[in-house]
Amino acid sequence: MANLAWINGRFCELDDAKIGVQDRGFLFGDGVYDVAKIYNGKPFRLPAHIERLQKSCGAISIELPYSAEEILVIVKKLMTESECSDGFVYMQVTRGCAPRDHFYPEGVTPTFLIYVVAIGRPASKDTVIPADCITLPDERWMNCHIKSINLLPNTMAIQKAKKAGAGEAILYRPDGIITEGTRTNIFAVIDGTVLTHPESNLILTGITRNIALEIFNKSHITALEKPVKLEDLSRATEIWTTSTGMEITPVRKVDGRIINENVPGPVCSYLIEEFWKIVERECWN
Ligand code: PLP
Repeated sequence: MANLAWINGRFCELDDAKIGVQDRGFLFGDGVYDVAKIYNGKPFRLPAHIERLQKSCGAISIELPYSAEEILVIVKKLMTESECSDGFVYMQVTRGCAPRDHFYPEGVTPTFLIYVVAIGRPASKDTVIPADCITLPDERWMNCHIKSINLLPNTMAIQKAKKAGAGEAILYRPDGIITEGTRTNIFAVIDGTVLTHPESNLILTGITRNIALEIFNKSHITALEKPVKLEDLSRATEIWTTSTGMEITPVRKVDGRIINENVPGPVCSYLIEEFWKIVERECWN
C-alpha cells in the first residue's frame, strides 16, 4: 500500500501532499513535529506524542486548530486506509504560509501534516542492534525541549558520526555535561546507578526515556535524573540510547573504547525485556 498523508483536512498519497513555497516551515524552519511508532497496527503511546506536539506548538505560539481526539481520529483513518502494521506516524505543524517576514504573521492557518509510513521489518526485542557512538560538542540552541523541525545541528552531528563509522553522537555542552544524542536520550550506568540528564531546556523529554524511568522506578534498580560528565563516561559499565525509532539501543563503544564486551549488559537487558513487555501489552491485545 502507498504511504498516506493528511494535510490541513485533505487525505492523499504522501507523494501528492503539497505545501506553498512561502510556508514558514520551509522558509524559516518555523515549526515543530513529533513521531510515534506503530506496532502490530497500533500506534504506541500516541496520546503522549500528541501531547508533546501540542506543548511544542504552545512553546512557539502556534495554535493548533485540532484537539487530541480529532488527531487520534485522523491517525486511525490513515492507519486503516494504509493497512500499516509496522511503521511510523509523523506529525508536523508549521506556522503556515505568509509573505516572508521574520515577524510572526497574524491570521494565518498553521500547516498541519500527518502521514503514516510502513517499515519493512517489524522491530522486536530480538532485533536489537548495538550502536557505536562518538562524542561531539552540543552545538544546538537553548530550547531543545521543543521538538523543532530545525534539525541541522543534529543532522550535521549524526553525519560526523556516520563518517566515523558510528551510529549515534553523544552530545556534550561546554561544561562537559552530556545532554543527549542527535535523536535519542542517553543513559549510563555509573557506580551501579542508572543516570540520565534531567528534564530541562537542554534535552528533549523523550517518551521512551520516560518509559525507561517508569520501568526502573518500579524495579530494584536505582535510576536518577542526574547529569553525567563526559569525563565520567569512562567509568560507565553500560550505556544505551532510547528513542521511539530505535527503542532501547545498547552502546558497544564510545570514541572507539569498549564500554562492555557483552552488549546489552545486565541492566540494559532488563530494560529491553520490560520495555517490550509494555509494547506487547499495549499493542498486541
Ligand atoms: N532526543 C532527541 C534530540 C530526539 O530527536 C529524540 C527523538 O526524536 C529523542 C531524544 C527521543 O525521544 P522519543 O523517545 O520521544 O522518541
